[in-house]
Amino acid sequence: MSLLLTRPQPVSSLSLLVLRVDADHTDDSRPLNDLAFFTNLFYTGPDFHGLCLGAVDCRAFLVGPTVLKGDSPSHAKGKCLRRTGIVPAPVPPCLVTRPRTVAGASSWDFRACQARSEATSPACILPGLAKLSTLETLRRLVAIPAPPGEEDELREALVGLLERKDVSVDAKGNLIVGQPDARVAVVAHMDEVAMMVTDVFYGTVSVTPLGGLYPWKIGEGPVEIFANQGRVAGVLGFGGIHTKELEQRLSDEPLDWARASIDTGLGSEELTDLGVRAGCRVALPAHRRTLEVLAGGLVAGYTLDSRATLVAWLKVVNGVAEREKVAFVASVQEEVGGHGAMWHLGNHRPEVVVALELGPVLDDSPVNLNDQPTVWVGDSYSSTLPSDLRLIESVGASLGLQIQHQYVTRGGSDASAAAAQGLCARPVTLGLPLKNSHGFEIIDLNGIDNLANLTAELIKHV
Ligand SMILES: [Zn+2]
Repeated sequence: MSLLLTRPQPVSSLSLLVLRVDADHTDDSRPLNDLAFFTNLFYTGPDFHGLCLGAVDCRAFLVGPTVLKGDSPSHAKGKCLRRTGIVPAPVPPCLVTRPRTVAGASSWDFRACQARSEATSPACILPGLAKLSTLETLRRLVAIPAPPGEEDELREALVGLLERKDVSVDAKGNLIVGQPDARVAVVAHMDEVAMMVTDVFYGTVSVTPLGGLYPWKIGEGPVEIFANQGRVAGVLGFGGIHTKELEQRLSDEPLDWARASIDTGLGSEELTDLGVRAGCRVALPAHRRTLEVLAGGLVAGYTLDSRATLVAWLKVVNGVAEREKVAFVASVQEEVGGHGAMWHLGNHRPEVVVALELGPVLDDSPVNLNDQPTVWVGDSYSSTLPSDLRLIESVGASLGLQIQHQYVTRGGSDASAAAAQGLCARPVTLGLPLKNSHGFEIIDLNGIDNLANLTAELIKHV
């Protein structure tokens, strides 16, 4: 697919940049690739200052406030010069213009326009979750990387999908919808297991995992480094196999991160200039952030652990009236110890915390990979009160759901970790059945709706 950018058009800080693809594809897999490309463009264009406010449909996006200087496809790769914060006001309702068709040139149209002057355009496509399918919403969220500490872009995308205005962001970076001091908090985490650069030595980048990520879960392949000057493409590798030494070592000990390194093709000086150094986050690039749709309603992909539960969280948030006293938290840094949620919960001390999580399909916690929610009876941090387990069972039965109970022998949730620190009285963790946790994960797509319905009903009764 080719890209056409209009000539440079400086726009004022109050203007909004509109980007749209005039898609000619009809199959179900192409929009995701388009989305991935857009995401790359938004955040890595060297001359592009902008903020993605959210997708308006699978082929058009809103960005702004912005200054556009690029004028060729080559600008699609590079760096993000500035990242703005969350825009507190709702997006003006119509920002999309009709795509411009240039004979023989491109199916893409990329132009700046004044939001006001376009406000009555008949081609307007409104943002919002209500217009998206569950699968499409999931695709969009999976496509956006969010290693611990670098959740900004995903948070901005979530804001674009919210249909409520009572939104805030705390000092830690948590997104909060509703009243922060509410007695009940519903938490889903934004971050994903990822890596962090530990050292750069003669152009070779070493990494350590952030959260429970094993090398074999992602294997050798493309990654991207979140450097100071933008994303830097690299390949994560573990060396060649044609040596007795490796054979001997792997027979003695498992593959670990000490053998991992990232090649970028850049030398030490170039890496330094780009700001690749210890502390940079590393995540999977856009083209690996896709979904596989399997038979029987199953969907597979990386990061479903957080993204699928975030879709359920969005559905609950958008379905609850603003007057209800519930704090909805999309937390940061869950995978490295629940740090984001603990910051919020420590400040506000809600009585009940409902965490939306994966329901891992495990040999020692044998839940079925279907669309029926799980409840964690206990984990590495704390356990759920028997009275709350009875309540969940009864609420589930009222909805026709067969709740699956599971004891998770390793790990925890934002709720259970907070309870272990005395930051809430009643931790509840509801799960979406999920196989291959922290790898190429598989869920039953219908489970998202069931998890959302159970949560929405439960918070009326706790
Ligand atoms: Zn996780």
